[in-house]
Amino acid sequence: MFAKIRNELTLRYAIVMMLMMMAFIVVSSTGLLWILYQEEQQDLRSFTEEEAREQAEMYKEKTIFFQLPPKETEDVDHGAKIFYYVFDISRQIVATEEPSQLIRTGVLRIIHNWDASDGEVKLKKFLLPNGDRAVVMLCSMKIYDGSQVLGTIYVGEDISAYYHMLKMLLIMMVIISITFLIIAAFAGHSLAGKAMIPIKQAFSRQREFVADASHELRTPLSILQTSVEVVQTDNDQKLSAFSIQVLDDMKSEIRRMTRLVTDLLTLARADAGATNIIKEKFDLAATAEPLIRSVQPLAMVKEIHLEMSGDETIPIMADREKISQLLLILVDNAIKYTPKGGRVEVSLTRTVTPKTMVTIAVHDTGEGISENERKLIFERFYRVNKVRSREEGGTGLGLSIAKWIVDAHGGKIKVENTPGIGSSFIIHLPL
Ligand code: ADP
Repeated sequence: MFAKIRNELTLRYAIVMMLMMMAFIVVSSTGLLWILYQEEQQDLRSFTEEEAREQAEMYKEKTIFFQLPPKETEDVDHGAKIFYYVFDISRQIVATEEPSQLIRTGVLRIIHNWDASDGEVKLKKFLLPNGDRAVVMLCSMKIYDGSQVLGTIYVGEDISAYYHMLKMLLIMMVIISITFLIIAAFAGHSLAGKAMIPIKQAFSRQREFVADASHELRTPLSILQTSVEVVQTDNDQKLSAFSIQVLDDMKSEIRRMTRLVTDLLTLARADAGATNIIKEKFDLAATAEPLIRSVQPLAMVKEIHLEMSGDETIPIMADREKISQLLLILVDNAIKYTPKGGRVEVSLTRTVTPKTMVTIAVHDTGEGISENERKLIFERFYRVNKVRSREEGGTGLGLSIAKWIVDAHGGKIKVENTPGIGSSFIIHLPL
C-alpha cells in the first residue's frame, strides 16, 4: 500500500515537473524566436529601403543598376548572409549579389511566386541542391525615380545557421530537461519515502493497537458468554420472562461482538503480515461438502435451497483453513442476503484453459448488488444496507477477509449480478 502511494506521489510530482519544464521550454523558445525575428525583420526592412534608394540614385546617375560592394552586406548582421536581386520592369535580373550560388534557384523560385506587399518581410524555407535545408528572410521593394517605377529589389538574408543553432538549442534544452526530470523523479521518490516514514509508523502503531485490543477483548468476551450460559442453565434460579429475554439478547450481542473482534484480529494480523498462508495439497470438493452441510440448517430456517455442484474431486494446493473460511463467508452472505424460498448454489470447477485453475462460484437469487456498490463491498465496514447487515448479524468485514484470502493465494475475486435477480461471487484460484 505504502509503495503504491509512494509511486503515485512520485508520478504526480514528475508530471508536474514535466509540465513546468515543457511550459518553460515553450515560453522561452517562442519568446526568443519572436524577439530575434522582430529584430531581423526590422534590420532587413531598413536595409532594403536603403538599397532601393541607393539603386535609384545610381540608376539616375549612370542609368544602370548597381552591384553592392561586399562589405555593405556584412554591416547588417554578423554571421548572417545577405543577398539581393534587382529586377527591371521587364522582370529581368539586372544586378545581383549573393554569397553562394547554391541558394539562387530556390530564392528565384520564391521570388517568382512572391505574394507579399512592398516592404513586407517573409520567412521561407527550401531545399538546396545538396539536400540541405535553407531558411531565408526576404523583403521586396520597388525602386522609384519620382513616380516612375524602375524595377524591384529583393533583399534576403540566409539565416539557416541561426535556424540550426536555435534548433540545436531547443534539442539541448529538451535533453537537459529530460535529464533534470529523471533526477527530480529519483529525488521525489526518495523524498516521498522519507515523508512516509512517520505515516508508516503511525499506521503500524494503529495496526498494533487494533490487533492488541482485539486480542485482549477475546478473553472477557468468552467469559461473558460462558457466564450468560451458566445463568441460563441454572435451573434453581427463578428468572422472569423479561430476564430470560434480556439474557438471550445479551448472548446474541456477545456472539456478534466475538465475531467482530475475531474478524478485526484476522485483518490486523493480515495487515501486519503476521498471518502465514500454510499451503497443503487437499481435495477442495471433499473439504467443501461438510462445510456446506454445516450451513444447511441456516438455509433451512429461511427455506433456501442450498446445493453444491461441479467436479467431484478438485486437488488444490492452498491453505485449507483459509479456503474454508472464504467459502463460509460467501455462502453465509448468500444465505443472509437471499429472501425466504430462494436458491443458493455453490459450484466448484477445475478449468484447464486458458490456465489451470480452480473456479469457486457462489450464485444466489437474492437482492443483488448495484454496479456502484460492487467496487465498494470489499472495503472494510462497507455495507450496502447497515441496518439489514446488523439484523443479519453482519460485521461488514466478511468480504474484506475474503478478498485478502483470495489475494494471498494469488487469485482473483469478482461479483457478477443483476440487481433484483441475484449475485454471483466468482473466484479464480491458481492450482
Ligand atoms: P456483512 O457482514 O455486512 O455481510 P460483508 O463484508 O460480508 O459484510 O459484505 C459487505 C456488504 O456486501 C454486505 O453488507 C451486503 O450489503 C453486501 N453483500 C455481500 N454479499 C452479498 C450477496 N450475496 N448479495 C447481496 N449483497 C451482498
